[in-house]
Amino acid sequence: MSTASSYLTVAGLGVDVVYKDIKNLHISVYPPVGRVRVAAPERTDEDTIRLAIVQRLSWIKRQREQLQEAERQSIREMLSGETHYVWGQRYQLDVSRTSGHYSVERKGKTLWVVTPEGTDVDGRRSALDRWYRREVKNAVPALLEKWQPIVGVEVDKVVVRRMKTKWGTCIARSRTIWLNPELAKKNPRCLDYIVVHELTHLLERGHGERFVALMNEFMPDWRTRRDELNEAPLAQETWT
Ligand SMILES: [Zn+2]
Repeated sequence: MSTASSYLTVAGLGVDVVYKDIKNLHISVYPPVGRVRVAAPERTDEDTIRLAIVQRLSWIKRQREQLQEAERQSIREMLSGETHYVWGQRYQLDVSRTSGHYSVERKGKTLWVVTPEGTDVDGRRSALDRWYRREVKNAVPALLEKWQPIVGVEVDKVVVRRMKTKWGTCIARSRTIWLNPELAKKNPRCLDYIVVHELTHLLERGHGERFVALMNEFMPDWRTRRDELNEAPLAQETWT
């Protein structure tokens, strides 16, 4: 099946259009910046697509506003009462306790970040970031034990390191996998998916047909996990 794509400007809005073997036209707004994408049945004419977008302009605008709001909220000040996510669950931050030692603890719906008295915002934030990193690191051995035999590969090293644009990456030559500590904020299914994805890269470099076929074999529901991962967690917040 061939897919064609184009780019339109409608009412000042840049729109990606993908033509597919589908029955109905779909419009989606993607985080983080509110990119608009239209999936249209093959041979839909441009005017029909333009009209569909114009009719949904206020919906698109609303989606974009929500994404911007989410972006604003994601700049945390590390104050008690803020919402933070751990493994897909939402918690309310509490920084009211101090101690000689740094610690992070989940209790009920509360995420306690305990720091020495006088610790500033950045100190609290890095304490929490270190903890997220540890959460991912601690989850890794069991995941490797589970997935390496299924994929039929073994890695030499797993590095948990912040990356701006990637959830994970694979350096095949040194059999090393990098994982983003931000994964500790998502449903554990997502980390599971990234581990399998990166392990599969040890068998197949690109994301072509062979890669997809292997992923289908190892993890038949990988697409829903990927979509879950790429949803803005804070956009979900507005739906609860
Ligand atoms: Zn990949």
